[in-house]
Amino acid sequence: MTNRIYNFSAGPAVLPLSVLEKAQRDLIALPGVGMSVMEISHRSAPFEAIIGKAEADIRALAGIPDNYKVLFLQGGATTQFSMVPLNLLTEGRTADYVMTGSWATKALKEAKRVGATHETGSTADTGYNRIPGDAELAFTQDAAYVHMTSNNTIEGTEWHRLPQIPDGVPLIADASSDIFSGPIDISKFGLIYAGAQKNLGPSGVTLVIIREDLLARSPKSLHTMLNYNIHADNGSLYNTPPAFGIYVLGLVIEWLLEHGGLPGIAAVNERKAGKLYAELDRTGFWRPTAQKDSRSLMNVTFRLGTEDLEKQFIKEATAANFDGLKGHRDVGGMRASIYNAFPERGVDDLIAFMQEFERRNG
Ligand SMILES: *Cc1c(COP(=O)(O)O)cnc(C)c1O
Repeated sequence: MTNRIYNFSAGPAVLPLSVLEKAQRDLIALPGVGMSVMEISHRSAPFEAIIGKAEADIRALAGIPDNYKVLFLQGGATTQFSMVPLNLLTEGRTADYVMTGSWATKALKEAKRVGATHETGSTADTGYNRIPGDAELAFTQDAAYVHMTSNNTIEGTEWHRLPQIPDGVPLIADASSDIFSGPIDISKFGLIYAGAQKNLGPSGVTLVIIREDLLARSPKSLHTMLNYNIHADNGSLYNTPPAFGIYVLGLVIEWLLEHGGLPGIAAVNERKAGKLYAELDRTGFWRPTAQKDSRSLMNVTFRLGTEDLEKQFIKEATAANFDGLKGHRDVGGMRASIYNAFPERGVDDLIAFMQEFERRNG
């Protein structure tokens, strides 16, 4: 496996090499089954064991309380932008959205189709380069829920605390790009969702963790595939699930459990991001874009003095096998996505490359 390059893509993103090797080894015939996971019935005992173990391992990894359901859905985080309000935005109430970036904006857009919404804490005026403080947040009393984006993949900001919201209002988090990057207190949330392709596995599977009492809100008139309650009642097997994605996601969770669980991966993530930000701060040549207290440990966004120099850096970095460093097209600049599976050595090697680039162009 010497031909793998450093993959800084924001998603789909790098997976642990050991996970890919295991998936490859067992691809043609699962041990004891003699068929590929892609070829067996989702109602078969082998698949029930796979999805059951994935759920049990997720519960163990994140300490998920018994009164939460773990669902494996499809349609990406984007479908959750619709499912959250369709299921939880009950008639006559308002949904509060904390506006911290492009993905929050897309989530709000779908909620507006469903019912009343209220925007709070927007940091749009500074280009979403920071997470709002509690004094900037004004919530609706008795809101249907509060929606937040725990990590803003495009702008490179991340919540390092939870917003203080009114008692009894469920907190909903789009955690697509930082789920299981460190310890999480699930009991603080009503619902957490994440498309798998950033920190959990391949695209095609979306993880949803939902507190059971919220399932009662799903309207009976709601279409089956959009209804959390029906997915929960059927153990995510109402229809054919994304079997291969769930299988690989399970391998990723196993890998996390073998590497010190969430505290273990948090230490590695802090070290990786810490080194990279230290380099970005070192001389003023690089221009990190997120406010210091809001910096993401997953997506490190930065610029250079001119767009020409940025183009040159991305070109030279790509040629040197540092792939995926171009910033999102909406914001430009550079972005190094260094999710759980991104190897620490890749960060060290990138820093050395950046120092060399600065020597030639600084
Ligand atoms: C990538 C991303 C999404 C969109 O995910 P899809 O699975 O492609 O629908 C939504 N929210 C955040 C925070 C993301 O990073």
